[in-house]
Amino acid sequence: MKTILVVDDSRAVRLVSRRVLGSLGLDVLEAENGEDALRIVRNYSPIDAVLLDWNMPIMDGMQFLQALRAEPLPTQPVVVMCTIENGMPRIVQAMQSGANEYVMKPFTEEIIRNKLQETGVL
Ligand SMILES: [Mg+2]
Repeated sequence: MKTILVVDDSRAVRLVSRRVLGSLGLDVLEAENGEDALRIVRNYSPIDAVLLDWNMPIMDGMQFLQALRAEPLPTQPVVVMCTIENGMPRIVQAMQSGANEYVMKPFTEEIIRNKLQETGVL
């Protein structure tokens, strides 16, 4: 079973994501900010994928992404970045910083399944 880490400061989003990702057969871990997520990545390796919110307190999605890609992990997880606005410049920035894919919130099960299939997680 593959493991996905949901990083979002919204408890409601984490709950919905857990339900969707669990139904796709993934083992789901949760973090409420980038700092929390980094701690989990360091302790629960391997994590196969990260569903990453952008706006979060303490450490945001971009800061986490950059820290993650600098971590000396045996294998780097696939990162799917979440955004609420049509912020293409931000998405380009995220892709250049090592994100594999992105989804617009709110996402449906079908959209997230497609993204995870395209990136080889499913
Ligand atoms: Mg947020």
